[in-house]
Amino acid sequence: MPVRPLFVRSFFDPEFASPGCLLPGSLPWVLARGRSKWFPAWLFADWRGNRRRGRDAWPSVVLMTLVLLRWSEEGMSRRAAVRRAKTDVAWRAAMGLALGAATPSERTLRDFERFLQARHRDTQVPRYLLAHEHIVRSCLDAGVVGKNAAWAMDSTPMWCYGAVRDTVRLLGDGLRVLANLWCRATGCSLAEVAKSWQAPFLLKKSTKGAFSVDWSKASESAGVITQLAERVVDAVTYVRRNAHADFVRAGMRKTLLEKCRHLMRVVANDLETDPHGGLAVAERVAADRLVSITDPQARHGRKSKSHTFNGFKTHLLGDVISGLIVSVAVTRGNMHDGEPAHRLIARAKKLHAELDQVLADTAYGGARLRHLVKSLLGVELLAPPPPVPDKDGSLCKRSFVIDFEGRKATCSNNVTTDDFRFFWSADQGVHAPLFVWSKKSCDVCPLSQACRGKEKGGRRLQLHPYERELRAAREAWKDPRVRQAYRARTQCERLVNQVTRYGGRRARAFGLRNAQLQAHSIVAAANLRLLAKALAAKAGDQMARAA
Ligand code: SF4
Repeated sequence: MPVRPLFVRSFFDPEFASPGCLLPGSLPWVLARGRSKWFPAWLFADWRGNRRRGRDAWPSVVLMTLVLLRWSEEGMSRRAAVRRAKTDVAWRAAMGLALGAATPSERTLRDFERFLQARHRDTQVPRYLLAHEHIVRSCLDAGVVGKNAAWAMDSTPMWCYGAVRDTVRLLGDGLRVLANLWCRATGCSLAEVAKSWQAPFLLKKSTKGAFSVDWSKASESAGVITQLAERVVDAVTYVRRNAHADFVRAGMRKTLLEKCRHLMRVVANDLETDPHGGLAVAERVAADRLVSITDPQARHGRKSKSHTFNGFKTHLLGDVISGLIVSVAVTRGNMHDGEPAHRLIARAKKLHAELDQVLADTAYGGARLRHLVKSLLGVELLAPPPPVPDKDGSLCKRSFVIDFEGRKATCSNNVTTDDFRFFWSADQGVHAPLFVWSKKSCDVCPLSQACRGKEKGGRRLQLHPYERELRAAREAWKDPRVRQAYRARTQCERLVNQVTRYGGRRARAFGLRNAQLQAHSIVAAANLRLLAKALAAKAGDQMARAA
């Protein structure tokens, strides 16, 4: 494909035709100046354009540039990006394409994005992640991060691309999707399927509109929900039984069975039996509830008590002073912030060995996470410790003095015990320490009621598996210098803003894999923007010195 080297000039060269099109310090500028350096050939070794055999294809460096430019503003669809790439002079200069020459098609761009999601043959790591890490290293080498760096992490919601539905629509629309797939797999019409599955509402556009009931009346809606659930169970049973028959297209069996699984999950999670024997939408919310039939990996998440969302969560770790984001991950919306934190810190530590402290909010303040990152990575997690639940009138754990080395504990009545044991903590999945006081000393204790409650035996004090780290964190939190250092975390919004203002608030495609690629592309573009500013400042300094 005709990609013009930088030193060759012609009337069709975008920079020749429009000399001021590349603003120093902008994303197109940095891409035009060093795209082969930011996207080295080894990253895209297996791309069809780099093979010796076969027909010509677009070079990976042009396509990677287009992938990042797509997220240079508020994010746009592939079609819009390709349309823009045809006419925008700065974009063409960034890609190294002459004015009026060919532009990669939407399909090529989609193929390339799929290629980025695949794992690199040497490292077995997704290529988008390798590209992101390479750009982070380039930023660190260029001195984007200063000596006063403050590393922090946070998460932000990413709304899913698929339609989020209530239970009735999940069942009705889900059955309609399954019916349409069945039609494609077997070649029969939707009318035939609706008749054989005894589900005439499949022929209507709206599930709720197909039933003339008053949805505000529990008895009427329960009848419809029961009917829908029965139709779903019958249809799923039928599809599962016949999925491997000769008349079903082999290539569609996996998709059909997957849809069956999702539908049965909705029935199991969202419905419960009502007092009259029918089915009703459950009052409780299942832990891993499906919220969208078209985007089954999306989950219902909660950013705060009042702020809920449906989709995914983007986790970020970066320097709040410079704005460089070194680690990014996207998880399902219902995943706790603390779960991917260790992976995020480990990746950041690999890229920047000097990382020794990370600021985070209470969600990351768990003792286990603190212990793991300190012992395995040598990184201190500076986060507010989890609050101690205060039980009215009773003695809480805080009132016991623990000697962890000597394996002794002293209670509020000054009675010391060395009866140290372990118990199995099902929550944490590890053994945790337990101290037991003798029944004799507790029976005569004036604090017995507040300490033991209704228990008649000796007091049993169950501790957290990482109680020592938890107590150390609570002690450290009282230090005003620690609080002062923690204040830098308030600028963490800068990192979040780098992602959300360029289209990171809403997924542009279905599924977690696409969301991962989207988040990494946005972050890579944001980091390159910082690199561009650093390089432009350096070039400006050199010019000033020369003058
Ligand atoms: S009840 Fe037992 S453990 Fe509790 S304060 Fe009294 S002596 Fe100590």
